[in-house]
Amino acid sequence: MIRLLSKEISEKIAAGEVVERPVSMVKELVENSIDAGASLIVVEIKNGGKTYLRVTDNGEGIPSNQASLAFQRHATSKISKADDLDHIGTLGFRGEALSSIAAVSRTEFITKTADEKTGTRLFISGGDLLEESVTGCPDGSTIIVRDLFFNTPARLKFLKPDATESSLIIDFVSQMALAYPKIKFRLINNEQPLFSTSGKGDRLEGIHTLYGKISSRKLIPIQFEHQEYRLEGYVSDPSESRSNRKGQVLFVNGRAINNKPMERGIDRAFAQRLFDGRYPVAYLFLELPPEELDVNIHPNKREIRFHKEPEIERFIENAVYQALQQLDAIPQVLNEKSLHKQQSEWLRSADTEPASINPIQVDIKSLLSTMREQQQIAETSILEFREEMQNDLINLSSDSLQSDRSQPVSNQSSDRRFHPEELRILSTIFNTYILAASDDTLFLIDQHAAHERVLFEKIMAQYEASEKNRQTMLVPFSLNCSIGHAANWEAWIDEISKIGFSLSLFGPNTLLVKEIPFFMTLDGAQRFLSDFLDQLDDMHSPPDRRIIEKAASRACKEAVKGNESLTGEEISELLKSLSKCDNPLSCPHGRPTFIRLSQSEIEKKFRRT
Ligand code: ADP
Ligand code: MG
Repeated sequence: MIRLLSKEISEKIAAGEVVERPVSMVKELVENSIDAGASLIVVEIKNGGKTYLRVTDNGEGIPSNQASLAFQRHATSKISKADDLDHIGTLGFRGEALSSIAAVSRTEFITKTADEKTGTRLFISGGDLLEESVTGCPDGSTIIVRDLFFNTPARLKFLKPDATESSLIIDFVSQMALAYPKIKFRLINNEQPLFSTSGKGDRLEGIHTLYGKISSRKLIPIQFEHQEYRLEGYVSDPSESRSNRKGQVLFVNGRAINNKPMERGIDRAFAQRLFDGRYPVAYLFLELPPEELDVNIHPNKREIRFHKEPEIERFIENAVYQALQQLDAIPQVLNEKSLHKQQSEWLRSADTEPASINPIQVDIKSLLSTMREQQQIAETSILEFREEMQNDLINLSSDSLQSDRSQPVSNQSSDRRFHPEELRILSTIFNTYILAASDDTLFLIDQHAAHERVLFEKIMAQYEASEKNRQTMLVPFSLNCSIGHAANWEAWIDEISKIGFSLSLFGPNTLLVKEIPFFMTLDGAQRFLSDFLDQLDDMHSPPDRRIIEKAASRACKEAVKGNESLTGEEISELLKSLSKCDNPLSCPHGRPTFIRLSQSEIEKKFRRT
């Protein structure tokens, strides 16, 4: 039932212009179709949507006696009282889109409900209803918007070239198609079909059709639930990263949204798995109760506010972090050639959904690439991967968000966790890499990176521990420091004491070290201290855990040398220590400690399959 909102509510709705450019119209119209329960949505544009833009759906339609009402300002069927604004379950609610669009274009609207025998056709130009008639049409709605801004030429001038406007639209529709895998989306640009999704609910297929640039083998599936929060989707394994966030597509309750808490959660989960300044690819879909977010802070609903930001951030961190502990997160040695062959075979057999992947994909890729950085296209076979994925699918749930993430949060998650100490050690090669195997996978372990990881976590564990394990120097040693460090020493002495050092001031620029952490050599301790002092100079805030982390990661690098052959016992000790690490799969600087080659990959190389 569409009704006009009262003045009181309409004033509560964030004011602003809904129709800024073609993509903002597409957004509103596609959202309307989704709200109408459509399972098929076709978007067609010409000239970047400036001259022609059509959205057709098979949703519930509007009864003929209400069709024209939909085009009045603040007319909506989605909310009726001010309270409703606090828990919005639909994508639209402002009752402004249709009226705003019709005010600045020549709009044709055709709609029919399943109950009615005939449909309604409206023609509105510059906001004036010129024609309302009965028409024969299928169930659902079609809106055609012609000549955008014909009556406001000044705004027309603000639009970007057609190619830019169309790539914004392509990007948006791609994201929606990904977010709503159960809806069939079809996009047509200048009479050329660009893509269509199957609507079969398969997100991986969507990622492949729309963002074919990443090998699906490099995507780690996530399915994580905690209380009323639910996260689904994929992140790239650490071997696949980007120099910016453009590879991250984040959704909250079905809305594509840039949001800091989710970004921070991802970053924190990937800390130490990636080099600084690198970002994982992520397609993440967060669902939470509507009353926990405010979507009414921006006229285009492009921004939202979480009421419980820190919880969301922690939840995302937890979910992604758990996924990164799985075997899937170990980079694979891939057999690209055979993958290529399989994909082309798969393409040939995939004629059930003719438009889902076809030459048109090339077109969308080239268009998308104007917006995203060029990345090498790693090709792979979805089908095969999906099979693997189904076996592997991580289904985790955490008992408590507050719990230390190093604790397995449930039995399910520990099942999928990777246990280095269970590997069979085979040999070492090049004095640097350990060869080990499980039942179906061969692993190469970088002993240098592994040592760094172990040492780093020892330092950090000591930092956290209430009891410190120290060794007392028979003869205390002195260390030079700057006059500034000495004068300021009370500001940092606590932090360094937390990892087991005990030192005192011994003159205007000298420190006297009496105790060092038990696991450090004298050399290592000296190096650590001077690294720590260097870090002090670089930090602009009071010393805290981060400074220890930084000094520790620097110190580890120097303490451990490659090219050192280890005995069998040392290797199994190392793997045991790695198993105890929170984060065994990378060194503190983000290099992988393990790479793997599965039996099936090996068999492919030998052409046994
Ligand atoms: P809102 O989506 O904020 O309610 P709109 O101006 O976008 O406002 O749409 C007004 C009303 O028109 C909606 O509340 C809905 O009832 C109806 N409507 C719009 N588009 C469609 C559609 N594609 N199918 C069915 N009903 C629609
Ligand atoms: Mg709407």
